[in-house]
Amino acid sequence: MSQVITTEDKSEAVRKDGYTITVDLNKCISAGPCSIVAPLTFILRDTDGKAIIIDPDGDSLEKVKEAARSCPILAILIRDASGKQIFP
Ligand code: SF4
Repeated sequence: MSQVITTEDKSEAVRKDGYTITVDLNKCISAGPCSIVAPLTFILRDTDGKAIIIDPDGDSLEKVKEAARSCPILAILIRDASGKQIFP
């Protein structure tokens, strides 16, 4: 499993396909749709309900993109293998 790094500000991990997923924990308002759309990638942590990554390869890239699109405040960022931000 890829390594997930979660700090006060973000939860971040690189997928096997090279894409990086980042949840901006300062922005996250615990709305939850990300963990419904991509439940094997994101969970809402018990302490404050914010979304953290549990496994960046848990769901397909399409599902992760859909989860990012489902976030009402666009707190999920996706970068491709070259570091270019592809969402939002
Ligand atoms: S959808 Fe966005 S605001 Fe809601 S829990 Fe996920 S990252 Fe946080």
